[in-house]
Amino acid sequence: MNTPESSEDTDREHIWHPYSAMHSDAPVFVVESAHGVRLKLADGRELIDGMSSWWSVIHGYNHPVMNAALENQIRNVSHVMFGGLTHDPAIELTRQLLAITPASLDCVFYSDSGSVAVEVALKMAIQYWHARGRPQRSRFISLRCGYHGDTFGAMSVSDPDTGMHSLFSDTLAKNVFVDQPRCRFGEACSDADIAPLAQALEQHAGHTAAVIMEPIVQGAGGMWFYSAEYLQQARALCDHYDVLLILDEIATGFGRTGKLFACEHAGVAPDILCIGKALTGGYLTLAATLTSRAVADTIDQGDPGVFMHGPTFMANPLACTAALTSLRLLLESPWQENIRRIERGLQQGLAPCRASASVADVRVLGAIGVVEMKQAVDMNSITRAFVDAGVWVRPFGKLVYLMPPYIISDEELAKLTHAVATSLSQAQQFLIW
Ligand SMILES: *Cc1c(COP(=O)(O)O)cnc(C)c1O
Repeated sequence: MNTPESSEDTDREHIWHPYSAMHSDAPVFVVESAHGVRLKLADGRELIDGMSSWWSVIHGYNHPVMNAALENQIRNVSHVMFGGLTHDPAIELTRQLLAITPASLDCVFYSDSGSVAVEVALKMAIQYWHARGRPQRSRFISLRCGYHGDTFGAMSVSDPDTGMHSLFSDTLAKNVFVDQPRCRFGEACSDADIAPLAQALEQHAGHTAAVIMEPIVQGAGGMWFYSAEYLQQARALCDHYDVLLILDEIATGFGRTGKLFACEHAGVAPDILCIGKALTGGYLTLAATLTSRAVADTIDQGDPGVFMHGPTFMANPLACTAALTSLRLLLESPWQENIRRIERGLQQGLAPCRASASVADVRVLGAIGVVEMKQAVDMNSITRAFVDAGVWVRPFGKLVYLMPPYIISDEELAKLTHAVATSLSQAQQFLIW
């Protein structure tokens, strides 16, 4: 680096972004600050955030209560190793999490990201069966169009096509995939809908440690909302074949679908639960894997008598404080009413999209709105059009979707959906042919 570069040039030349090429003409915008639902760009423009920074910033940016709690915690301790030491933020957060998650969950493992929480869940399931003297039960059954993260274990249970399993085939564990349920949320689940999972379990249960799925909402793999009855039947099948059920609520947790956790729509409890993303209100990276006393005790009784995982930044005190404060803000707010308000706003605001010939489907559940196009959109041009319209929306493939911070006002929400509907009505220019 001889000549000084502009910020944009340094970014373009030297920094990878999520799922990006090092050399690409994709636009990248410098964020100078953010308040509430607004991102302020370095060039002075302000954007209404429609993404909650990928499900996480539920209370908005720069929240005074969150800021004060973190400043206070910094003065006590920002980080301390969790091996042999513990602290109040982790202890209090654990009490809170156990109080709001299904009653059967009793033991918590903290980690730094959603992908790692999924790795931990898979390892728990494998160690559980090892301890029960059935080490051949080491495979997983998961749904097509599912997404569980980017590390190897998480990738091995994510959609094989979008996850490019062929590229990593020598390294990835070979798991069993079943077709995603096509029965929509609110509909019944027919025998035909559940048949692929039932058949996979009948055929592979003897080698299966667990079934893993995102409850009700499949996120990054397709933004699909499926029948609560499917989840109930999946739970019953897991019980019948004595297979563990792992639910990945990393995207759906903390109110997004209208319930605190999406599994509540079905009245179903998992054996292992993964949470992350909105856990800290988007302030810091923290995730957790929860399980039952029975699973934890079985792992304890097996060889080597300990659970084999331990991240350096496990249960980071700042992150736990952010999570505790975010949870308190959520539970003290009329969040159910609020999610219903956003649901209505999304339904009304996105309804005009149905009229467009290039739109295949519009669906809304809780504070999630999805416009599925008939063809993939051109990310670069559509992102620029959204920024010009004053909103931050990041589509992928055929999916243009919104999941705004819960604090968004009706007026801001109307502006957000209007920008999406207007841009998509001119969508011909954004389609990839
Ligand atoms: C985002 C996500 C993950 C991965 O979380 P990271 O924090 O990005 O590692 C796993 N599962 C689901 C359902 C997700 O939405």
